Amino acid sequence: MATDQSRTPTDEDLDTLSRQLGRPVRDVVEIGARCRQCGSPLVATTAPRLSNGIPFPTTFYLTHPSVTAAVSRLEAAGVMAEMTERLSEDSALAAAYRQAHESYLAERNAIAERTGVGAVPEIDGVSAGGMPERVKCLHVLAGQALAMGPGVNPLGDETLERIAEWWTPETCDCAGAWDHSAPVPERDRSRHTKTQGFGDEAVEAKRAERARRAQAAKNEDSTAEGEDARA
Ligand SMILES: [Zn+2]
Repeated sequence: MATDQSRTPTDEDLDTLSRQLGRPVRDVVEIGARCRQCGSPLVATTAPRLSNGIPFPTTFYLTHPSVTAAVSRLEAAGVMAEMTERLSEDSALAAAYRQAHESYLAERNAIAERTGVGAVPEIDGVSAGGMPERVKCLHVLAGQALAMGPGVNPLGDETLERIAEWWTPETCDCAGAWDHSAPVPERDRSRHTKTQGFGDEAVEAKRAERARRAQAAKNEDSTAEGEDARA
């Protein structure tokens, strides 16, 4: 069945993104990729300059919980270090990865232009995910591969291939992947939103949960420090 694959985010899309992430999204200017079956967002495209003026280099952000969790499994298995090592040994791969970096920058400039954000010279030449020399975040690479299609980022394509056991672009498990009837998160509950865009939500959530447990295990008289430990 054909679904609406429009990049223009609807109010419903923005609510879905907030439910997927468990926090309100902001400065989402496009839907970078959608589920081919049901049209749910897979990737949020964030403005290269946030409405508070801060330059924001991470344009494509994976939001679908099934995809982010699968990519987190790869990261936990040490795939980033493996890929970074291959970049130093395989000059063809390194060249293709550098081209992916250039494509990322070009697409970000195009998005800035078509969404009226305008030039963001502060992040000229700065992409994301460790590009062009290293691999620091597979979510960024997979997000680019989903948003820009196959053949753009070789390691993004490879990331999608390597999570195929858990999720592929052809499958739709959106119904059970997040709570579709949950109240939409309305307020920014985090003091670290500026940096969350660069990391992995699932990992950060686990880290926060560990911090909470560790804090609970300790005596509970230092509540101020406990607050600080929460992501
Ligand atoms: Zn779906």
